[in-house]
Amino acid sequence: MASKVYVDGKLLDKDDAKVSVFDHGLLYGDGVFEGIRFYNDRVFRCEEHIRRLYDSANAIALTIPMEPEEMTEAMLETIRANDLHDGYIRLVVTRGEGGLGLNPKLCPKASVIIIAATITLYPEDDYTNGLKLVTCSTRRPTPASLSPEVKSLNYLNNVMAKLEALNAGAVEGIMLNEQGFVAECTGDNVFAVRDGAIKTPPVSAGALNGITRSVIFDVTKELDIPLEEGNMTRYELYTADEVFLTGTAAEVIPVSEYDGRKVGKDGKPGPITLRCIEKFRELTKNSGTPIYN
Ligand code: PMP
Repeated sequence: MASKVYVDGKLLDKDDAKVSVFDHGLLYGDGVFEGIRFYNDRVFRCEEHIRRLYDSANAIALTIPMEPEEMTEAMLETIRANDLHDGYIRLVVTRGEGGLGLNPKLCPKASVIIIAATITLYPEDDYTNGLKLVTCSTRRPTPASLSPEVKSLNYLNNVMAKLEALNAGAVEGIMLNEQGFVAECTGDNVFAVRDGAIKTPPVSAGALNGITRSVIFDVTKELDIPLEEGNMTRYELYTADEVFLTGTAAEVIPVSEYDGRKVGKDGKPGPITLRCIEKFRELTKNSGTPIYN
């Protein structure tokens, strides 16, 4: 079966799914997106993702030409059209077609694209043994420009940071904010464990308000593991007992090495990370918005 992509109300064969070269999403990165996982015929944290999509759009004064309920239904319909049961959805809303100038007011209608597919972000071995992380010199943009909370189509900063990480032989990279505090990774949030307690940078430090991050907040409450948000330095990651990352595509993944230093005693995934992974997997298996009924 050819894969079907939703574009502005129509489900098209993948090869026919196209946007205009005058779309400001392409010309200027003017638009917003979401990455969402579905497991076992259920969309995980569906409402939260849809809400963040509309928040991102509001923040950049972009009117999504459909209600959140219609967006959800279009997403479910796209998954069903592809007969998928476990996978990844990319929702993209661009400013739409306009002129060659920046003026977004000359783009009469936003475009909505929904892609349902599968994704493997990191090799299986990294989930068992942990991945290699380095600090990137590319900084997370300051909220004084575009708020890092907006999940916009302009990811060039993150792409540059990712390239640095890959060139250094690592899988992910830590991005610091203007003040030098840890913000997050290029596509994941970061958590450190020390003496049985977890710490993660606050959104105000430049972290995306990650939905998997919020799952960790819920899970640790349930497990009675203390968690605090606070400004973090690299030192805190160097001296942590455990470090792990979270993201929709990444899920929950341990870090074995950071800037050439083994995490914890031996770089092996620690007990709190493993408990969080186990709880997270349980939740993905047993909760979510049903796709097929
Ligand atoms: N930070 C950035 C920069 C991201 O792009 C993402 C999403 N891949 C995350 C963090 C993790 O957020 P979520 O758990 O909502 O996917």
